[in-house]
Amino acid sequence: MAAKIISGTEVSKQIKAEIKAEVDGLQAKYDKVPGLVTILIGENPASVSYVTGKQKTAKELGFYSIQDNQSADITEEQLLALIDKYNNDDQINGILVQLPLPKHINETKVLYAISPDKDVDAFHPVSVGRLVIGEAIFKPCTPAGIQELLIRGGVETAGAHVVVVGRSNIVGKPIANMMLQKAKGANSTVTVVHTGTKDAAKYTGDADILIVAAGVPNAVTADMVKDGAAVIDVGVNRIGMTPEGKAKLAGDVDFENVKEKAGLITPVPGGVGPMTITMLMKNTLEAFKYSLQSK
Ligand code: NAP
Repeated sequence: MAAKIISGTEVSKQIKAEIKAEVDGLQAKYDKVPGLVTILIGENPASVSYVTGKQKTAKELGFYSIQDNQSADITEEQLLALIDKYNNDDQINGILVQLPLPKHINETKVLYAISPDKDVDAFHPVSVGRLVIGEAIFKPCTPAGIQELLIRGGVETAGAHVVVVGRSNIVGKPIANMMLQKAKGANSTVTVVHTGTKDAAKYTGDADILIVAAGVPNAVTADMVKDGAAVIDVGVNRIGMTPEGKAKLAGDVDFENVKEKAGLITPVPGGVGPMTITMLMKNTLEAFKYSLQSK
């Protein structure tokens, strides 16, 4: 039987409506709204497009939002001073520095300069540590989107064998950590597979939930998937151009064949992708609520 296809676009719409309703309620009560600044250094076209999407969504949700464009020759010191300014700005709850940064700027130093209370990307080591010990204020956006798709897709995670393909710091490691927490949408038994794994199919073929973040088209084929498994495809690979001149995208999973075997599957595009920006907005709302509590 063909798998149920879970649309990240639809789930995102629901979550955004929930965020908007909460923002409206908080505004009525406190006369304040969540504030997000996105800092863009230079004019990398992909980065421009990402921050434009983030700003557009923030505005739609009624946030106070600032797009801070800085020239590519900004010094590291100037950028650190700018972050410090936003760390101390009460109207700003979330600070996002769009990566990659120009080569003369130390990325680690910049990400570490963001106050952990405003770290809506959750890349700061304090955020990573909080996530691992089960006390996250913010979960990194893509893994948070994956977990939300599982919850809203009605997938039972407690006691399930979750196999994660990939161990990057932005997807593989955090989602593996999140799924093993004793918490809602988690409490799973987790295995992580990577290029050093011998016989990856032995593990993927036992997964009740298979989360694939390898960055390689067709890294997971139907013979590697258990009947009825929930398959979340995080991969975004450019595999050519459409006749309209747009990038043609594919995930990491052989969608056409795996969908005949899986119980649930996310498409690419339209699966995990749209969830990432939405979870950034959720994190900004959480940061805002956290700031209200700590006053
Ligand atoms: P990454 O940093 O390149 O890491 C890829 C991981 O997959 C590595 O740990 C690598 O193992 C492992 N791997 C690669 N090929 C494998 C294979 N055949 N079998 C098992 N493991 C394999 O990638 P990433 O940043 O996590 O991103 C992964 C994919 O997700 C990319 O396509 C990216 O574009 C996409 N992505 C999407 C979103 C979104 O919003 N939808 C967000 C982030 C990333 P080693 O560690 O051994 O090298």
